[in-house]
Amino acid sequence: MGEPAELRCPTCDRRFSPAAPHNLCVCGSPLLVDYDLAAVGRALRPSDLRDREPSMWRYWELLPVIRREHLVTLGEGWTPVLPLARLGERLGLPRLFMKDEGLNPTGTFKARGAAAGVSKAKELGIRAVAMPTAGNAGGAWAAYGARAGLEVVVAMPADTPEVNQREALAYGARVVLVDGLISDAGRLIAEAAARSGWFDVATLREPYRIEGKKTLGLEIAEQFAWDPPEVILYPAGGGVGLIGMWRAFDQLAALGWIGERRPRLVAVQAEGCAPLVQAFHAGAATAPFWEGAQTVASGLRVPKALGDFLVLRALRETDGYAIAVSDAALVQAMHELAALEGLWICPEGAATVAALPLLRDLGVVRPEDRVLVLNTGSGLKYPHLVHGEYEVRQVGSPW
Ligand SMILES: *Cc1c(COP(=O)(O)O)cnc(C)c1O
Ligand SMILES: [Zn+2]
Repeated sequence: MGEPAELRCPTCDRRFSPAAPHNLCVCGSPLLVDYDLAAVGRALRPSDLRDREPSMWRYWELLPVIRREHLVTLGEGWTPVLPLARLGERLGLPRLFMKDEGLNPTGTFKARGAAAGVSKAKELGIRAVAMPTAGNAGGAWAAYGARAGLEVVVAMPADTPEVNQREALAYGARVVLVDGLISDAGRLIAEAAARSGWFDVATLREPYRIEGKKTLGLEIAEQFAWDPPEVILYPAGGGVGLIGMWRAFDQLAALGWIGERRPRLVAVQAEGCAPLVQAFHAGAATAPFWEGAQTVASGLRVPKALGDFLVLRALRETDGYAIAVSDAALVQAMHELAALEGLWICPEGAATVAALPLLRDLGVVRPEDRVLVLNTGSGLKYPHLVHGEYEVRQVGSPW
């Protein structure tokens, strides 16, 4: 078990063997990983999970790595779901929860994608990987790549938070700073990878990162006793985690572990880079390139997502929604949540918190709903966004 049946193109339906490395389909679309769910259903029951390891690898049968010895893990996943009682009371949403991905290795949920992607790269005999990053993916792939003994090359915008530049360096990756956006870094990497024989692991250019992020949905379902919440808010950059959760719930429904109802998936973006929100409300099937992308939530600064059509499909199929919040609102939400709940979260996660009152006023989330916000990373990686006044005192002077 733990064996993908095939790679399938969601655009032209071509099939590929998972025994060899693949990037995009010949039609240019990302590939998705399919499993023999009937076989998984015969081999595994929800109750079998109770004694398993507290990591995302507890769902081994629904993950793509075939042999245990190829697993590259730092203990990622199985993060807590915490009730937000004080914030929920303030907002009139008494059934509010947060899944806190800030506890993952390297401080963000990118660890899930990197653990799956690096493990599968190792299994397929790949020696060098290269990727553009908005910051956190580079750190995660550098860490897991180091543990696997892979050569890792990451290219990121020169104004990526310093923590992200330094963490990738610390893990021994080759770090290239680009005076442009992640899309410019992506073009550089694609060209250099083709010449150098590096495997291009840019978002959705290899099929396994999404499998790692899929475990978010599997965990949410299990943590809610196979009755997932009515609404899930997700801070979307490329939208990989959202696509992953959508696939997770589909696979769990096919297994009969959850019912037919799906959580309504809501994508939250920053006003300075909201291509998916714009496309959702325009009724479009894909999102055009967003010019001049800018936001302090650096993980959301993705002007063009390869999987935009999948994100938009997931939002519509689940009766979901898309909304943008301002940088001022998300930074304020970050401070409010830290002071109210003891959770200092990343600005991307804080965008979902900032969206809550807007969604409540729109009726997208209702007081009776169980609402889960996904915090994708730790505030510790964004110290430059904290404001407030220190008090300064002279030693020996009276208080
Ligand atoms: C990458 C990232 C996101 C967005 O994830 P996508 O899969 O690109 O949508 C959100 N938050 C943080 C902290 C990130 O690093
Ligand atoms: Zn195709």
